[in-house]
Amino acid sequence: MNITKEFAVQKDKEDCLASFRERFYLPKGIYMDGNSLGLMSKDAENALSHVAEEWKELGINGWLDSIPQWHFYGERLGERMAEFVGAEPNEVCMSSSTTVNTHNMTATFYHPENGKTKILADELNFPSTLYALQSQVRLHGLDPKEHFVMVKSRDGFTLNEEDIVSAMTDDIALILLPSVLYRSGQLLDMKYLASEAHKRGIIIGFDCAHSAGSVVHHFDDEDIDFAVWCSYKHFNGGPGSPAFFYINKRHFDKKSGLAGWYGYVRDKQFDMNIWFDRAHQAGGWQISTPHILSAAPLIGSLQMFKEAGIENIRNKSLALTRYFMDLVDAVLPQKEYGFSIGSPRDDGKRGGHVALLHDHAWQICSALKNRGIIPDFRPENVIRIAPVALYNSFEDVWNLVEALKEIVAEKEYEKFSTVRSTVC
Ligand SMILES: *Cc1c(COP(=O)(O)O)cnc(C)c1O
Repeated sequence: MNITKEFAVQKDKEDCLASFRERFYLPKGIYMDGNSLGLMSKDAENALSHVAEEWKELGINGWLDSIPQWHFYGERLGERMAEFVGAEPNEVCMSSSTTVNTHNMTATFYHPENGKTKILADELNFPSTLYALQSQVRLHGLDPKEHFVMVKSRDGFTLNEEDIVSAMTDDIALILLPSVLYRSGQLLDMKYLASEAHKRGIIIGFDCAHSAGSVVHHFDDEDIDFAVWCSYKHFNGGPGSPAFFYINKRHFDKKSGLAGWYGYVRDKQFDMNIWFDRAHQAGGWQISTPHILSAAPLIGSLQMFKEAGIENIRNKSLALTRYFMDLVDAVLPQKEYGFSIGSPRDDGKRGGHVALLHDHAWQICSALKNRGIIPDFRPENVIRIAPVALYNSFEDVWNLVEALKEIVAEKEYEKFSTVRSTVC
């Protein structure tokens, strides 16, 4: 392992995505939190200004005279997104937010009947997803304590795929799992889990909030039933940018659980009929008017993803996280510094971030922020580090590890409170 700064600089010189960094507004210091909120690019800013101009000039006519037409934003952005997740253009739609889409998909696919009454998730799942699923069970008059099951983690950080398969009992109707776990960054084998679920007649969906935009997905090939994900993390859509969902085309005939007029057959939507007639594509699961201003930056951002190529993004992301873990091993020996890695080392099992563990994680995060370095913290002891392919460099990673070394060696973290703030 070459631990010199020169080596990091050399790796940046060889990086085919290096030029994208200049297209972002980089806050002072080092940003390592792109898995919570991606940074703003000039491309996203221009796209946002473009829509603001359209609104000024077109008023109501913007719904059809804008480019792309506001009225069809859900479908058009879904089509652009589809290539990054390995789906057909009409299987993906932009709409609403992730938790709402989780409700929408569950309302559509969860029909407790004929002894299949339970939802299966896992105890490491994102809490919002778990709350949504519990309430969906309750909507059917069932008790979540009995009909909502969670696979346990053996180590508190990762899930064992065989444990998940063992939990696929005859009474499970629907499974919702994360593609990448939000704390440890573990990437599950979606194809394998989908095939095991289908052997047992179980519908399976994935929350891809932490993988979309950093992992190469092949939803059609993985043969999952549905997926949901957000666009403000790795896709750099901006705070509150709308979410996306995927519905495998074999389900286009299903009744939608939560209907609304934007899911109506689009050329007849304004006929204002009394009975619902759903569009025969993922767009048919939209509920209401798309959030044009929140979505606008994505037009610029998705264009950048197309230019960069999702495979290149994945390769660089893996190279950055691997480099970070190797540096931690080499420069911050656990015995001396107390750090350990809570993410899978195997590239095929890791998403776009690394969980760095330490007993004083919260105080170390505070010390990093005080130095202008932005990680994020997840209780109890996780520092999440997300070096993002489009705007982080190997030198950033090197500087981060150097900062961690100083913060612990000089006990700088002890100057910071042990009490956590409410958003972290
Ligand atoms: C960020 C995230 C969400 C986002 O939820 P919202 O509904 O957008 O607030 C959902 N699931 C996971 C796993 C996430 O990481």
